[in-house]
Amino acid sequence: MGTTLDVPIHSMPGSFKYVVDDVARLVTVFVNAYMVGRREGPWVLVDSGLPGFAPLVRHAAEKRFGRAHPPEAIILTHGHFDHAGSAAELARYWQTTVYCHPLELPFLTGRSDYPPQDPTVGGALGFLSRTFPHRGMDLGSRVRALPGDGAVPGLPDWRWIHTPGHTPGHISLFRDADRTLLAGDALATVDQDSAIAMMIQRPAFSVPPAPLTTDWDAAHSSVRHLASLRPFAVSAGHGRPVRGPGVAATLERFADAFMRPRRGRYVHQPARSDENGLVYLPPPVPDALPRQLILAGVVAATVLAVARRRR
Ligand SMILES: [Zn+2]
Ligand SMILES: [Zn+2]
Repeated sequence: MGTTLDVPIHSMPGSFKYVVDDVARLVTVFVNAYMVGRREGPWVLVDSGLPGFAPLVRHAAEKRFGRAHPPEAIILTHGHFDHAGSAAELARYWQTTVYCHPLELPFLTGRSDYPPQDPTVGGALGFLSRTFPHRGMDLGSRVRALPGDGAVPGLPDWRWIHTPGHTPGHISLFRDADRTLLAGDALATVDQDSAIAMMIQRPAFSVPPAPLTTDWDAAHSSVRHLASLRPFAVSAGHGRPVRGPGVAATLERFADAFMRPRRGRYVHQPARSDENGLVYLPPPVPDALPRQLILAGVVAATVLAVARRRR
């Protein structure tokens, strides 16, 4: 499902990986958050990492910007647990506002849960997704809708772009001046279907995290939209950032060849939601794994019993 990138990865030594010199990547286990802004100037945190990682994010921010320099805002590309997991704690600590798309608000104000994840899409992430939570969270009065004109609070040179599909209110951030794109989970820069690619973080444009993507037509349109921006640097929620003159053409090829999973609950019929949250779920697709595990258990027990009797 990925298109391998033929461009060098840009990174610099030190605690952070830099996408460009004022965009620093912070990794919490398998998901990226970004600190956007110059050391001396105002800055913004884009996504917040997994739950429980607020101290790590705070430590990195203090190292980069100093102790008395909280961010202007926390911007969430979407509300999944791996992106919004530490947002409540960080917003409380910094006394700052969290912004998201209006269609993402129900999942961040406790009004709605996300559609359940779909492990039947297969692949390494599909397997792991059985353990993922899909509950909405409640950031209370700290969370607010982004301004309707594409302006990003705290980042005057950037604009937000609605890139639904992975979630209904998913956004990406783009800076026209140097064509830097923060794509969230609208796409990935690692093939999450491959355990090996995930382990070595081999860079490749890839579909949004499949078990949590609930509208594949919209997801494809969003990738086309992002490719039309002809970005020079792309950083996503998962995978290493990529940059260089070949990125735009590689992303365009990926958008043209975009392949949704062959099967899965949301592949042919999307989940639907509105400003109050989830309104329609397609029926579940049978998950073969529990049956396969039971079968494997029965086979193993039989082999063991036969081996014992022969002794
Ligand atoms: Zn996500
Ligand atoms: Zn994610």
